[in-house]
Amino acid sequence: MLIDKAKCIGCGQCRPFCTMSSIHFTRNQKGTKVHCMVDEDECVDCGICYRAKVCPTDALYQPIHGWPRSIRGTFSNPLAEHKETRVPGRGTEEMKTNDITERFKRGYAGMAAEMGRPGTGARLRDAEKVFKALAKLGVEFEKNNPLTGLLINKETGEMNPEVLNEKVLSAIIEMIIPLEEVITVLDTLEKAALEIDTVFSIDLVARVDEDLSVPTAKIMEKNGRWHSFHGKTNLGLGRLQVKGADA
Ligand code: SF4
Ligand code: SF4
Repeated sequence: MLIDKAKCIGCGQCRPFCTMSSIHFTRNQKGTKVHCMVDEDECVDCGICYRAKVCPTDALYQPIHGWPRSIRGTFSNPLAEHKETRVPGRGTEEMKTNDITERFKRGYAGMAAEMGRPGTGARLRDAEKVFKALAKLGVEFEKNNPLTGLLINKETGEMNPEVLNEKVLSAIIEMIIPLEEVITVLDTLEKAALEIDTVFSIDLVARVDEDLSVPTAKIMEKNGRWHSFHGKTNLGLGRLQVKGADA
């Protein structure tokens, strides 16, 4: 995002809407006029300030960025679409809609590492550190995840070096693992979290067993690991897998 300093009157109305606190007051060279400017290195091109429609002079504008800057917007602006997955946002929707998609079958868990949030964001070099730690375990990264699409080597977790300095609102690494590997992956993620420069959370999802118990919860409890339950219903998300001609 940029601000046309010729139009900006320095009212500051856009500043509270910035998810990265990257809009600052400044003065012109003569020091006679206050206006605002965007710290472009910190801005994640989420577009929130623009869509808030608070600017009285239409001074905010979103330039069309080329590669690799363009990925800031595709990861951070919920209205932008990823070319790879045609799904807007940070990850895939299957983790939240598993009862429809059956992405994670019995005996397996879906696990995700979420880096960055409004206020902090995440540099993709931090995502690469987590990818590399997980790749050593041989985990299967979710192929439809937009972050997976930035890997140049799935065996080593190496990302395209051109994107490493790009900053996004948040990024999610998603993977499928056998239930018996949950604690090993969790230990690896906890170690990797100490190496990265942003906030970090871990998601763990599995189908409930026939007796309605949650297999991943049992694993966490047996190993004395903290966890909390969350249920989420996303209307309109998830792609039903149609099986058979008469289904
Ligand atoms: S596009 Fe997002 S990060 Fe950039 S200045 Fe606007 S609100 Fe802040
Ligand atoms: S709302 Fe518009 S005029 Fe006011 S500080 Fe922001 S860009 Fe400048």
